[in-house]
Amino acid sequence: MSKRILKPSAVIAALLITAAAQAGAPMARFQAPGFYRTTLGDFEITVLNDGTLDIPVEKELKQPPDKTNAALAKAFLKSPVQTSVNGFLINTGSKLVLIDTGAASLFGPTLGQLVSNLKMSGYKPEQVDEIYITHMHGDHVGGLASNEQRVFPNAIVRAGKLDADYYLNQANLDKATGQAKDDFQGPMVSINPYVKAGKFQPIVANSELVPGIKSYFNGGHTPGHITYVVESKGQKLVLLGDLLHVQSVQFENPNVGIAFDSDSKVATAERKEAFAVAAKEGYLIGAAHLSFPALGHVRGNGKGGYVFVPVNYTQPR
Ligand SMILES: [Zn+2]
Repeated sequence: MSKRILKPSAVIAALLITAAAQAGAPMARFQAPGFYRTTLGDFEITVLNDGTLDIPVEKELKQPPDKTNAALAKAFLKSPVQTSVNGFLINTGSKLVLIDTGAASLFGPTLGQLVSNLKMSGYKPEQVDEIYITHMHGDHVGGLASNEQRVFPNAIVRAGKLDADYYLNQANLDKATGQAKDDFQGPMVSINPYVKAGKFQPIVANSELVPGIKSYFNGGHTPGHITYVVESKGQKLVLLGDLLHVQSVQFENPNVGIAFDSDSKVATAERKEAFAVAAKEGYLIGAAHLSFPALGHVRGNGKGGYVFVPVNYTQPR
């Protein structure tokens, strides 16, 4: 009897040892910390990634799906495209300014890493002096608050007044039905803690907010959408907000709009203008949904479209 039991268990033990040897080290399955550091004149720029969001771009872009799928294939991509969500931390030397804050928990579990990446990058949320919001969609304002508390306790938050009037408006929330309510609830839970603390200041006109950072209204994506121009020692970075969402499609053909725009016609005109000037002047651009680290240059492709050239990887020196 003992022999009969021993024999099969010995075989199983041998099999287990073999399986363990073949399995090797377990896969780590997490990404490197999502921050990227560079300089712009005297300023230090840190791109902060919040994670990625899967976007079924062939459904959302305003052109036939087969055209989108062909453009994606040229970039070795398939829909849904894992789309970066980024914020930009600018240390001017006298002010620490964050532009956009990611989604936190508003857009699901693949996002919400911006604050931990900010900490990994060597800063603390309480050091942030000013936060400028490109527009009040959840993936840009969500990181401002957690459980209705301010995540950046010492920061003044600024965003376009037209967006504040629209998204922080209880009457608009009451009128909305179903999922459309989220469009208002997200901004409200994120920004109202700052409003209550007297730390929200709407931007009413194009202006210099701190030395070296200016706001420019271009309201097609949302009514009060703003791009921010960062400039130091003659070097310039223009943060385009959501003037584009799908880099593998919209640089080559900036005429393609997306369903997320409140006025796609205006948004398209703004995108074309932004790309044309960036290509002409040769300055650096950044945008929330460019692939992390979301910085690069634009040049014309000779056919009325553009090519995005991501930055070379560099170490701070
Ligand atoms: Zn967005």
